[in-house]
Amino acid sequence: MTASASYDVAVVGAGPAGATAARELALAGLRVALLEKAPLPRYKVCGGGLVGRSLRALPEKTLREVAAHPCATALMGVPALGREFVTRRSTPIVAMVMRDRLDRALTGLAQDAGATLVAEAEVTGLDTGPHRVTLATRKGPLTAATVIAADGVNSRLARLAGWAPNPHAVPAVEWEVRVPDATYRRFAGRARFDMVIPGGYAWVFPKGAGHLSVGAMTILRQRMDLHGRVARYLAGLGIHPAGEPARHGHQIPIAPRARCLARGPVLLAGDAAGLADPVTGEGISHALGSGTLAAQAVLAAGGDPARAAARYQALLEQSILPDLRAARRFAELYYLHPRVTAWGFRLWGQTICEQVTEVMMGRRGYHQLRWDIVPAMLGLGRAGRP
Ligand SMILES: Cc1cc2nc3c(=O)[nH]c(=O)nc-3n(C[C@H](O)[C@H](O)[C@H](O)COP(=O)(O)OP(=O)(O)OC[C@H]3O[C@@H](n4cnc5c(N)ncnc54)[C@H](O)[C@@H]3O)c2cc1C
Repeated sequence: MTASASYDVAVVGAGPAGATAARELALAGLRVALLEKAPLPRYKVCGGGLVGRSLRALPEKTLREVAAHPCATALMGVPALGREFVTRRSTPIVAMVMRDRLDRALTGLAQDAGATLVAEAEVTGLDTGPHRVTLATRKGPLTAATVIAADGVNSRLARLAGWAPNPHAVPAVEWEVRVPDATYRRFAGRARFDMVIPGGYAWVFPKGAGHLSVGAMTILRQRMDLHGRVARYLAGLGIHPAGEPARHGHQIPIAPRARCLARGPVLLAGDAAGLADPVTGEGISHALGSGTLAAQAVLAAGGDPARAAARYQALLEQSILPDLRAARRFAELYYLHPRVTAWGFRLWGQTICEQVTEVMMGRRGYHQLRWDIVPAMLGLGRAGRP
């Protein structure tokens, strides 16, 4: 890339949000640069659980290539009650993916559509001129009319464009665990979630061939040894790893950044905007969704970045943001009031699990659960059936 490289749109970050935005824009004929700091493919700390609503949003070809080990059964363990709740569906509730493969497949589609992928091109500077933005990258500068920042939870682009750090980023850890076949068979075919973490939960995802992804998240701010808790969780489930697990930690943004998610010529998408689900920590769905909306806004604005920003904010307000607000209220009730939660689960555990499963499937949103679940959790009335 040279200093004269000039694009309609620069998309920063080749995760699900950035790759999706780049593909949509390139398909429409715009000149698009997709800038990624890492060499590709790259490991991404993630459970790699593709919930039903992600599966519905992904291109068919990508699913065929990378999604595997579908789980049409989910188990929620509530040790405080000594109970396990099981939900079943005729189609997968969660399918499994390794993020290096998913993200490489999505960037491949963006390239096929005509986007220019530049790997190992970390963006280090942003200069917003009157008509065009200049980005400094490790592979030289480039200019674009509009920038879509999809560079993850700690978005450097957001900082460079004037946003404060997102105060709602919470810790999460992920272990890649190899287990003997007999152990694997106990966990194959279903996604497991256990309420064993204060203010959060732990999970076991079967990834095939003796590979389990095991992790934990919490929405509590207090310091917590999540790795230690995962070690105890494994022991409690009788999982004895064959070899040392690969341990990783990162953050999940459980609320959007304050005020607008687009400012001047810069639009934030995915984790950079703070769009992960605060109840489950699942972020791929809204990364895909916001990448698409950012592209639609740019296209609808006909080359006017200010109009694109306003349009993007409006599109988010019509779809993702109201649901995330409802999810946040639900997450705070669910995780910050354990006695109310335990009471709700004792009375309505199966209903709560069925309805959260419906959200994961993308069949309803959290805002549609409000009248069903909250009164139920407070023991004030009957929960609606899914
Ligand atoms: C432990 C853990 C488990 C999770 N499990 C799940 C799960 O099972 N299912 C699920 O749906 N979600 C899960 N998530 C959340 C999910 O990983 C994210 O929500 C999702 O990756 C967001 O996608 P994105 O495209 O916005 O950003 P990312 O996937 O983070 O991609 C951002 C990209 O930007 C690049 N980048 C960063 N800075 C720069 C820069 N300055 N210049 C150029 N490139 C840059 C990065 O290298 C990266 O490739 C989990 C998260 C964690 C931490």
